Amino acid sequence: MTECIFCKIISRKIPAEILFENDHVISILDINPIHFGHALILPKKHCRDFLDLPPESYHHILQAAKIVTKALVQSLHLEGYNLFSNNGTIAGQSVFHFHLHVTPRYTDDNIRFILKLKEYSDGEMKRYGEIIRHHIQQQS
Ligand code: 5GP
Ligand code: ZN
Repeated sequence: MTECIFCKIISRKIPAEILFENDHVISILDINPIHFGHALILPKKHCRDFLDLPPESYHHILQAAKIVTKALVQSLHLEGYNLFSNNGTIAGQSVFHFHLHVTPRYTDDNIRFILKLKEYSDGEMKRYGEIIRHHIQQQS
């Protein structure tokens, strides 16, 4: 299997603009940013998506996300930012090595998810709750 692009960045086979790094995670600037400064946070150990992420990396990823986000807010004087992760092709994931995006936001930048909000019919929310809770209980 060919090595993934983020693993190549981690092993320095290809260059990247590195913002932060420790033994567990690395943060780089996204090569095609939504706004300049758009950063990615990724675990050094390859994993495909959020569900593939080992529990021992949760803390390191969030800790790095906070450090990088704080630096973005301070250096770019941000009033707002988004943190998000695309998981699966239909959700927009294009690199299959888990990562968090942190992107600056600006007034009137006209960037938004196009939302088509639904409404639950009578009893439907309860049904969804029951199904999901059942699968949560199965995990414990
Ligand atoms: P996804 O689409 O999987 O949520 O996010 C992958 C991100 O990785 C994209 O925003 C894309 O611009 C970025 N990306 C893809 N290849 C490279 C690369 O070689 N270097 C850097 N720095 N970012 C990359
Ligand atoms: Zn990888």
